[in-house]
Amino acid sequence: MSASLQHRAGLPPAVSPASVVVVGAGPAGMQAAWAAASSGTKVTLIDANPSLGGQIWRGEQSNSSVGARLFEKIRKSNIRFLSGCQVVDAPRPGTLLCSANGEPEWISYDRMVIATGARERFLPFPGWTLPNVYGAGGLQAMVRGGLDLRAKRVVVCGSGPLLLSAAATLREHGAEIPLIAEQAPFVHVLRFAWAFRHLPSRVLEAIGLGKRLFGAGYRSGCYPVRAQGVDRVQSVTLRNSTQEWSVRCDYLACSFGLVPNLELPLLLGCRIDAGFVAVDDWQETSVPGVYCAGEVAGIGGMDQALAEGEIAGLAASHAKADPGLRERASPRFQERERCRRFASALAACFALRPELRSIAAPETIVCRCEDIRMNQIDGHTSWREAQLQTYLGMGHCQGRVCGAATGFLLGWPAEPTGPPLFSVTENFMACAKGTGEAAPAPAGNPSKQ
Ligand SMILES: Cc1cc2nc3c(=O)[nH]c(=O)nc-3n(C[C@H](O)[C@H](O)[C@H](O)COP(=O)(O)OP(=O)(O)OC[C@H]3O[C@@H](n4cnc5c(N)ncnc54)[C@H](O)[C@@H]3O)c2cc1C
Repeated sequence: MSASLQHRAGLPPAVSPASVVVVGAGPAGMQAAWAAASSGTKVTLIDANPSLGGQIWRGEQSNSSVGARLFEKIRKSNIRFLSGCQVVDAPRPGTLLCSANGEPEWISYDRMVIATGARERFLPFPGWTLPNVYGAGGLQAMVRGGLDLRAKRVVVCGSGPLLLSAAATLREHGAEIPLIAEQAPFVHVLRFAWAFRHLPSRVLEAIGLGKRLFGAGYRSGCYPVRAQGVDRVQSVTLRNSTQEWSVRCDYLACSFGLVPNLELPLLLGCRIDAGFVAVDDWQETSVPGVYCAGEVAGIGGMDQALAEGEIAGLAASHAKADPGLRERASPRFQERERCRRFASALAACFALRPELRSIAAPETIVCRCEDIRMNQIDGHTSWREAQLQTYLGMGHCQGRVCGAATGFLLGWPAEPTGPPLFSVTENFMACAKGTGEAAPAPAGNPSKQ
C-alpha cells in the first residue's frame, strides 16, 4: 500500500525504504534506474508526470527503438515506479518529501540520482503574455496531446534545434508554419551543422527534419521584438540587423534554449558550475552519494542523457569498486565524451545574442504569476533582493519562468528557492506535519493567498 493510500485509510504514512532513488523518469533517469536495478540494487524511480518518458518520450509515445526497448526493460524489471510523485523537499539527508498525487509521501534512500531534466527559457517582450503565445516545446506537447492546430498559422521563434523539432511536429498535425525565426546568425547555424558530421544519428535526424520541414519558411539572425493582438496574438514583429517586419499568425511558439531544473540539487547544496550541476567522472555531485545525469548536468540531448544515466546508475550501485560494473560503464564514458563535444558546439552556436537583453520594454511583465514588470525589478542587484522587494518569482511557478529570464536579462545566478520546490496546498502541509516530519513553509505570495 502506498503512503497516500495508508493515509486515506487512517494509518500513519509509511517511510518507504529504497537503496537508490532516481528522481526523474526521462531518458537519463530511466537509464540510471535500469543500470542500477540490473546490477542488483533496489531502485525506486519517481516522476511528477503520470508516466515514464520525460520530455522526449512523453507517456510511452516513443517511436524510437532505444526508447521502446528501455520502456520494456523497466516494465519487466522490479524497479518501483512512482508516477504523479513530485519531490517538494529534502528535509534531511536520506529522506525526500514528495507530493504523491497531492498527498505527502516520504521516501528514504541510501543514494540518489537526480535526473530532473531541463525546461524551455522564455524571454519577455511586449505582447508575450497574449493568449496563444506558447513555449515551442509546450505547444508541441499540447498538439501531441490532441490540440487541433489544423490550418492555423504558427510562427516559431527563439533559438536552438528544439524550434525545428517543434515546427516539424506542428506541421505534421496540420499547422501552417510561415516562419521559423532563429536568433543565431547564419554562420553559427552552418558551424553547428558541420560540428555533427561525425555523428551519424544526428545527420540522419537532420535529414529527417529537413524533409518534414520542406517548404516551411526559415530565417536565421532574427528575433521577435513585439507580439500584437486584441484578445489573442494576431501578428509578431521580428527584427534582424537591417530591418523590422511583421508576420501574421494565430499562434506564436517561442523558446530561447533550455535551462536545467536545478531546484532539487540547489536545495541539497550541490555545487553549480557555469549554470549546471557540477559532477565528477562518475556523475557524482559535490554531495557524496548524490549523482546527477541528463540535462540537469548539461544540455546535450538524448544520447548524452542515456550515457550519463547509465554511468550514474552504475556508480550509485558501487561500480567504482566492482571491476565488472566498471567494464560495463567503460563504453559509456567514450559515448559521453563524444556527446559533450556536440553539446559544446550546440552551446556556442546557439548562444543568445546580447540584443535580446533589451527586447523587454520597461512596462513589460517579467513575472506572469505576480504581474511584476521590468521597471519594478530594474535597479535591484540580485534575484533574492528583487524577490524580497517585489514578490518576483513567488507565485505558482515558483520562479521557474522569470528566474531563467532574469538570469539571462540581468545576469542573476540561480539561487536556492527553499522548500517547497513546487507549490503545495495547506492540506498537504497539514498532512506532512501530522507525520512528525518538518513541513515546508507555505509557497507563494502570502498577501494573495
Ligand atoms: C519542452 C521540451 C521539449 C523537448 N522536445 C524535444 C524533441 O522534440 N526532440 C528532442 O530530441 N529533444 C527534445 N527535448 C530535449 C530532450 O528533452 C532531452 O534531450 C532529453 O529528454 C533529456 O532527458 P532527461 O532525462 O535529462 O530529462 P527529461 O526528459 O526532461 O526528464 C526529466 C523528468 O524529471 C521529472 N522531474 C523534474 N523535477 C521533478 C521533481 N521535483 N519531482 C519528480 N519529477 C521531477 C520531469 O517530470 C521529467 O519527466 C525537449 C526538451 C524540452 C524541455
